[in-house]
Formats: sequence, C-alpha cells, structure tokens
Amino acid sequence: MNHFETRNNQLYAEEVPLTQIAEQFGTPCFVYSKAALQAHYQAYEQALQGCDHLVCYAVKSNSNLAVLSVLARLGSGFDIVSGGELARVIAAGGDPAKVIFSGVGKSLDEIRAALNAGIGCFNVESALELEQINGIATEAGIKAPVSLRVNPDVDAKTHPYISTGLRENKFGISMEDARTLYRKAAGMSGIEIIGVDCHIGSQLTSIDPFLAALERVLLLVDELGDEGIEISHLDIGGGLGVTYKDEEPPAAGELVGQVRSLMGHRAMTLVLEPGRSISANAGILLTRVNNIKSNGEHHFAIVDAAMNDLIRPALYQAWMDVQPVVPNAENIARQYDLVGPVCESGDFIARNRELAISNGDLLAVMSAGAYCFAMSSNYNTRNRAAEILVDGTEMHMARRRETYQDQLALESPLP
Ligand SMILES: *Cc1c(COP(=O)(O)O)cnc(C)c1O
Repeated sequence: MNHFETRNNQLYAEEVPLTQIAEQFGTPCFVYSKAALQAHYQAYEQALQGCDHLVCYAVKSNSNLAVLSVLARLGSGFDIVSGGELARVIAAGGDPAKVIFSGVGKSLDEIRAALNAGIGCFNVESALELEQINGIATEAGIKAPVSLRVNPDVDAKTHPYISTGLRENKFGISMEDARTLYRKAAGMSGIEIIGVDCHIGSQLTSIDPFLAALERVLLLVDELGDEGIEISHLDIGGGLGVTYKDEEPPAAGELVGQVRSLMGHRAMTLVLEPGRSISANAGILLTRVNNIKSNGEHHFAIVDAAMNDLIRPALYQAWMDVQPVVPNAENIARQYDLVGPVCESGDFIARNRELAISNGDLLAVMSAGAYCFAMSSNYNTRNRAAEILVDGTEMHMARRRETYQDQLALESPLP
C-alpha cells in the first residue's frame, strides 16, 4: 500500500493534502507517514513470527525522535553507530537493552556511555576495539555483550559507497582473523561473546549476496560451536533495498524466509538491522519551484530544496522520483534539471526529467525518508528543513524549521 497517493488531482500524505502541509509549515519540508513506518516494520515482524528475533531499526537512516518513537512503541530495537544516536534512542523511549552498537570508530567515551546504558550488544569491528571494550568493562566490573562483525568478502552489487562487505572496505574483521579473535575474546574477563554479525551493504536488490554472506557466517558459527564457543545471536545486518524507480528488491518476508531456511535447525536469535527498507518510502521531500530558466535548450527548475537538504543525487548519483503535487494539464511538459540554490554544479535533485510544471508549483521528491534529512547540512548557511509526521488526518511537527539564530547560536565572533 502506498501512503502517498493522488486523490482529487492532488498528492496526499495519508489523509492530509501536501498543499496543506506546505501552507502550514512552509517548504522545503520533509513529510513522513506513520502508517508507512509501521507497515514496513510489521513486514519484518510478521516474517519473523515463530523465530527468536530482534529487529533493530538502523537509526542513521532517519533519526528523528518522532520516527524513533513510532518504532519504539512497536517494540523495535535499534542499531546505532554513535553516542549521539544512543542519546536519541533513549530520548525517544527506546529500550537500551535492545540497542546494538555498530561502527568502525567507537570512541572510548561512546563505549563507556553504551556500557552504562546497558545496551544489548557491541558489534566489534577490530582487535583493538575488542581490547578497549574489555578494558572498560573489566574496570567497571561488568561483562560487555559482544558480536564480532565479520567481513564475509562478498560483493553486494550495489553502489561502491554503500558496499561494505568486501575485503577492500574498511568494515568488519576477515573470516580468518575472526576465528582467532573469538578464541581470544573467550578468555577476556570483561567480554561475553553472544553473537556474530555481518552487514554487507545497502540498497541490495537481490537475496543472493545475503545468502552468500550467511553461508560463510554459518560455517564460522559451526566451527566455533565445535570449539565450545556458543554463538546465540546471529545478526545479518540491514541493507534490503527499496524501489526508487524500477528496482524490484525482494520483500522483507522473502528475505527473512530464505534466511530462516538457511539457518536450519540452529537455535539462534535472528537479528536484523533494516534502515532504508523501513524509512525510505515512508517519507517525501516537499519543495517549491522558485524560478524557471533556460540556458539555450537546457531548462532548469530552481527549487527551494538543495543538496544540503538532500544529498543523495549528488553523492551517489541517486535517482529519485519527482512528482508535481497538483498536476496542471495546462503546463507544457519539458525536460528539466531540478536544481537548488546552492553554489555548486553538483547541486541537483534530479536531471533530465520530463515535467509539466510552472513557477511556484509544489513538487514532491519521493522515497526521501532515508538518508536525506539525516545527511542534511547547513551548507550555504541554509536552515535545515522542517520535518512533519502525518498520522491519519493529524500533522505532528517532528522538527521545526531552523532559524538563522539557531545556526549562529553556537558561534562567537572575536571579541
Ligand atoms: C547503514 C547500516 C545499516 C542499515 O542499512 P540499510 O541499507 O539502511 O538497511 C545496518 N547496519 C549497519 C551496520 C549499517 O552501517
């Protein structure tokens, strides 16, 4: 089901016309659908029924407190990659015991904070990190629950910037090193080995790389079991892709079904860390055309959103669908580049799009719930956009638009 639908010739978020949101909150503005977030999360829960499991939403894809609180109320766990994300999860009412801490560069302070909060698991990415966690936990007289994040050396066949499971990527521990490190970890006073983890990339549109990685990980699990090192928690990461244009990623249920059958009789808690597949198609970016200009044959629609609001096209050559909020049959269709006001030629939202638009029109950039606001910046001293969470006919201001005062407040000119 699509939660952003055209009715009476205009685009809605659930029961609210996007024109109303633009009027009330201005543009650019991110709009999220609570029902979409819930449906995408429930697809995982349903597929996991009858199997010990934990779905840990990847906070980095969209870390707004309102979004996190929707998921926390459904009982979701959270995959975090920083101390800041831990603070967000706690502020949103998430259960620290269901938090998994991933990432290659955990600082000592972040490790301490996570231990104090009582998180569920550290996904350890190096020998040194394991020693650091052991040191801090031993000092505190506790045991830190850990998984090692292994790098299974499989090609996720996705954009190189979001591919993480190859030897050449900075992530994880090689399979050979992992064996040695597990033996070492088993003898550490501040470490409790609970699991194994891998995450091979993002926007995967096929199940095959997941299964190839899982086969290697299961081999390791069985070997460790033979040595008396029990792995009770199997984390296969996130990475399931979504449809931006014509991609046909497997459904969550299909992925989970195949993973469960490959796990076979092994009694482990299955952990997943989906981000994009929960948040991407639960959001759009609402923007207004501020100017239309032509350089010869080349037509530009200059909109009020820019690369500082939505960097995916500039960063990953990502294609995102653009729809007029109120289509007008009287407009002439032309090929447009949709660009923002930022002083960079890389500042584009979409290129070569056939659109029938005129100045002042509202546009919706679809599938903008993941890795959009979360990656936004103040480049060109632009205020970051507002975020609105729609719930049926209700609008909740999940984040107010920034002001220049907000931006200047942290800085001081020389006295
Ligand atoms: C980014 C990330 C995820 C989420 O990836 P999606 O593609 O958004 O599902 C999960 N786990 C780890 C370790 C990550 O870095």
